[in-house]
Amino acid sequence: MVKKQLIAGNWKMNGSLAANQALLDAVRAGPGSPRCAVAVCVPAPYLAQASEMLSGSAISWGAQDVSAHDAGAYTGEVSAAMLKDFGVRYAIVGHSERRRDHGETDDLVAAKAKCALELGITPIVCVGETLAERDAGQTQAVVMRQLAAVIAANGPRVGDIVVAYEPVWAIGTGKTATPGQAQQVHAVLRAQLSVASDRAAQIAIVYGGSMNAGNAAELLAQPDIDGGLIGGASLSAPDFLKIIAAAL
Ligand code: PEP
Repeated sequence: MVKKQLIAGNWKMNGSLAANQALLDAVRAGPGSPRCAVAVCVPAPYLAQASEMLSGSAISWGAQDVSAHDAGAYTGEVSAAMLKDFGVRYAIVGHSERRRDHGETDDLVAAKAKCALELGITPIVCVGETLAERDAGQTQAVVMRQLAAVIAANGPRVGDIVVAYEPVWAIGTGKTATPGQAQQVHAVLRAQLSVASDRAAQIAIVYGGSMNAGNAAELLAQPDIDGGLIGGASLSAPDFLKIIAAAL
């Protein structure tokens, strides 16, 4: 099986019905039959709109989070079953903004990945080090610790996850990991996955952190980089389409 790269947009907390309509119209009109898999991870209130506009197209839609609980007294949370009702294919879990702003721990992120997998939703598991951790030589230890929690909670089912290596210092900063820096971490993650799953070679490990139309091709050409998780540049249809075109 030839693995397709995945280009997934993370809109974060951006959008409106009108703006989304224009953006999705332009993205849907763009790639024709893209070589890669394409997805947009939209704010939860817009999942119905994404489902309506993207059904039958080459573009999947996803959520930016999922609850670690099935149902009940968890005000504000959205369960995997609810996401499934809207045809969601992917759910980002453990984004650094949620780890930072909502105190999400490695174990909680692992439980969220488990809930997604149980409903047939592919979790895009984000891992990545801060600048202080990189400067202290802890990059490998940090990303391996974050991924280890997901492996421990999910066993061989990790064969069905997507991993996003997102160095925290590169997110929304305009600073990108060099292709060499990113490839090095991706290779470490691949080796870790290969101990847990005999499908490790097929697991998409995507890079995120200021990927844009100018730097995408070089990053996506690295042997262990299987796509991108795109924040800011996914809000511009021309930029997002250029990244899709750069994917292998
Ligand atoms: C992200 O939020 O996942 C991300 C990669 O953001 P940006 O591309 O804006 O750095």
